[in-house]
Amino acid sequence: MTNKKILVIGGVAAGTSAASKAKRIDPDADVKIIQDEKVVSYGACGMPYVIEGIVKDFQELIERPADVFKKKYQIDVITNSSAQKIDRVKRKYMQMICKVE
Ligand SMILES: Cc1cc2nc3c(=O)[nH]c(=O)nc-3n(C[C@H](O)[C@H](O)[C@H](O)COP(=O)(O)OP(=O)(O)OC[C@H]3O[C@@H](n4cnc5c(N)ncnc54)[C@H](O)[C@@H]3O)c2cc1C
Repeated sequence: MTNKKILVIGGVAAGTSAASKAKRIDPDADVKIIQDEKVVSYGACGMPYVIEGIVKDFQELIERPADVFKKKYQIDVITNSSAQKIDRVKRKYMQMICKVE
């Protein structure tokens, strides 16, 4: 039997939750997250505190670094890349590398 392949586009709160849930439901599924930023799984609502200086480092907002998803949950994370086009019939996607500072 072929394992399911699941691509999640976007890796902040919703994307990482969806990917984790999919993996919990089907541990054999090949789950991948594509994220156009260099980080995933951060608390976006904390950003005003970073801007204001109450939170000194943006890194503090990161709940789980990208490598943890691979090591702990066997979920691949592709960062700095955006999904440009999806073909639902052929079940393919085109990605583009983004330069994110
Ligand atoms: C200032 C602020 C205050 C907030 N306050 C609250 C609050 O009080 N309570 C609350 O519940 N929520 C709050 N939120 C919202 C909360 O942070 C969001 O619910 C959460 O960020 C939503 O995450 P998300 O994953 O749905 O979407 P997003 O945060 O929008 O993440 C989607 C990610 O996908 C990426 N992406 C989009 N398209 C592509 C593509 N084609 N290819 C690859 N990557 C792509 C985006 O760049 C982004 O990184 C706040 C957010 C902000 C910014």
